[in-house]
Amino acid sequence: MKTVLITGASSGFGEAVALRFAKVGWNVVATMRDPSAAGPELGSWPNLLATRLDVQDRQTIASAIEEGIQRFGGIDVVVNNAGYGLFGIFEGVSREAIHAQFDVNVFGAMDVVRAILPHFRSKGSGMIVNVSSGAGAIGFPMASIYSASKFALEGWSEGLSYELDSIGIKVKIVEPGGATRTNFMQRTGAESGRQQPIEDYAPFLRSIGTLYEGMGSSADPDAVEKVAAAIFTAATDGSNQLRYSPTDDIQPILNARRSSSEQAYRSLTLGIFTPKAA
Ligand code: NAP
Repeated sequence: MKTVLITGASSGFGEAVALRFAKVGWNVVATMRDPSAAGPELGSWPNLLATRLDVQDRQTIASAIEEGIQRFGGIDVVVNNAGYGLFGIFEGVSREAIHAQFDVNVFGAMDVVRAILPHFRSKGSGMIVNVSSGAGAIGFPMASIYSASKFALEGWSEGLSYELDSIGIKVKIVEPGGATRTNFMQRTGAESGRQQPIEDYAPFLRSIGTLYEGMGSSADPDAVEKVAAAIFTAATDGSNQLRYSPTDDIQPILNARRSSSEQAYRSLTLGIFTPKAA
C-alpha cells in the first residue's frame, strides 16, 4: 500500500488529488494550514489522514511528515500543490507581498522537499510532483510575480530532477491552466485589493482586464478533474516525462512557446497582450 502526502489539500486541486488517490486505495496524508477546514468528503476515508502543514512553518512540515510515516509506515509520493497567485502591475505590488509569494510558491516547496529527502534516500526511492502553472512557462502581464515564482519552481524542479534521478528519486512538474472551481481566483482577488493603483497603467489594465475576462470564460470546465488525474498519472506512470500540461485552454500558447521560433512566439504574445506594440 503506497502513501502520498499533499500540501494545500483544503480545497481545489489539492483536495481533488487527495480524493483521487484515496479512492484507488492509496494512503493519503492530506495536509493543510487549518485541518478543521478540511472538506467533508476527506473525512469519510479511513485511509486518509488530514493534518496541519503550513509551508511557511518548517516545524509543521517536519511534524506532518513524521505523523504520516508513523501512521502509514512511510511516504512514497509528495505533491507540492500549496500556492496562490499574486496578480497586479509589478510597480503596485509591495516588496513584502513579493517575498510572501516566493515564500509560499518556491521556498515552501523547497522546504517540503528538503524535509522529505532523508526519508526518500533511506528507501532509495520517492516521487515529487510540483504543481506549477501555465504561468510557469509563459510570462503573463499582471502576473509577473506569480510567473516569476512558478518559473523559479520549474527551473529548480528541472535541475533537481537530474540530481535526484541519480539516487532513484523522481521529480515531475504539472502545469494547470485556468480553473474556476477552486479558491484560486478568490485569494488572487484578495491579494490584488491590497495593491497601490497607479493611474498611468489604467488603459492597459482595462484592455488586459477585458482579455482576461474572455480567457476566464474559456477556462476548461473539467480542469480540476484533469489536473487531479494528471498529478496521479505523473506520480504513477513510471515514465521519465518531466512536464504534464493537462488543460486545453493553455495548449495553443504553450505550443507556441515550445514549438515555434522565439520571434514567432514574441509576435503572437505581443499581439495578444499589447496589440499596439505588435
Ligand atoms: P486553492 O483552491 O486556493 O488551493 C490552494 C491551496 O494552497 C489551499 O489549500 C491553500 O490553503 C494552500 N495554501 C496557501 N498558502 C499556504 C501555505 N502557506 N501553507 C500551506 N498551504 C497553503 O487554489 P488551486 O487552484 O487549487 O491552487 C493549487 C495550486 O495550483 C497552486 O499552486 C496554484 O498556483 C496552482 N494553479 C492554479 C490555477 C488556477 O487557475 N486555479 C492555475 C494554475 C496553477 P488555505 O485554504 O489554508 O488558504
